[in-house]
Amino acid sequence: MKDGHGRTIDYLRISLTDRCNYRCIYCMPEEGVQSMCHTDILRIEEIAHVVRVFSNLGIKSVRLTGGEPLVRKGVVDLVRDINDMPGIKNISLTTNGVLLPRMADQLRQAGLSRVNISLDTLDAEQFHAITRRGYLQEALDGIDAALAAGFNPVKINAVAVRQLHQDYLAFAKLSIDRPLHVRFIEYMPVGGANGCGWGPDDVISCEELFEIINRQARVEGLPELVPAGKHQPLGWGPARYFMFPGARGTVGFISPLSRHFCSECNRLRMTADGKIRPCLFSDVEYDMRAALRGDGGDDAIRAVLMEALGAKPDDHHDKVGTERGMSQIG
Ligand code: SAM
Ligand code: SF4
Repeated sequence: MKDGHGRTIDYLRISLTDRCNYRCIYCMPEEGVQSMCHTDILRIEEIAHVVRVFSNLGIKSVRLTGGEPLVRKGVVDLVRDINDMPGIKNISLTTNGVLLPRMADQLRQAGLSRVNISLDTLDAEQFHAITRRGYLQEALDGIDAALAAGFNPVKINAVAVRQLHQDYLAFAKLSIDRPLHVRFIEYMPVGGANGCGWGPDDVISCEELFEIINRQARVEGLPELVPAGKHQPLGWGPARYFMFPGARGTVGFISPLSRHFCSECNRLRMTADGKIRPCLFSDVEYDMRAALRGDGGDDAIRAVLMEALGAKPDDHHDKVGTERGMSQIG
């Protein structure tokens, strides 16, 4: 499936819910955001229907996200359904990890292959302050559960926020002894309407992060990061990967602000209320829910998909803010 700029689009990110058991300071305000009404959220069968039609047109990879996707009832059944669709080659999940100790094995058996766990600090107090609800040990147990269940790769996503003074080297070192792929993500100004308080001074570019990590590594007598080459993990995203020589995992950098990757963009997004978003940084959305609940046939679903595909912009042209927050977009 090609968009209007010749890019192959084969990846769909689906937000299963806007609800979450955490309130991360860069993602949601303390009191949460106005939740979507239950009837506005797509039912599990509706999501599966959309994926089936999309997979017949060339979507090969699906990522489930949210909000926190594991709080959505029916997520294991959805994974199983999607896994049965012949066109789908990979199903992955982005999660805060809290529910993985309970759910990792079922998800793996249902056909989930890859897991990204979000974790921004290894300091217990800071973890609680960032998530406003969570405890570090829950996330660490989630990582253990993901590895034990056999997901490959297991990636750790850390948003770098200057004011938090996270210990980046400690994070990078997680990749040395276990097959963990740690990725740093530049803090993005999504969710203007939610008042998460992003400011340009909060952003640390990946280039700066890379230098900080190497500087700290030298101080500890560690070798510097080298390009990961053939060791880079499976995936279809925009990260650039490095590794400590001889490490079992890698260290990746995702730089939506300092280095656009729009020319390599391969994705569409679907929000929990069934809106197709051609671009994260554009608030233009196409109403799949109306198609599902109106005509409900495959042709109506295809028509919305084609409209969204045709509207995919070539680049976000430095417009990076969004009205909806990450927890709503996914
Ligand atoms: N709850 C799940 C989790 O935290 O992994 C999935 C949803 S969360 C919205 C998806 C990813 O978006 C997480 O890795 C999170 O850290 C990231 N994220 C949220 N707000 C962000 C922001 N303002 N800038 C960069 N990344 C952000
Ligand atoms: Fe929840 Fe994920 Fe947002 Fe944190 S980043 S509040 S875990 S949706």
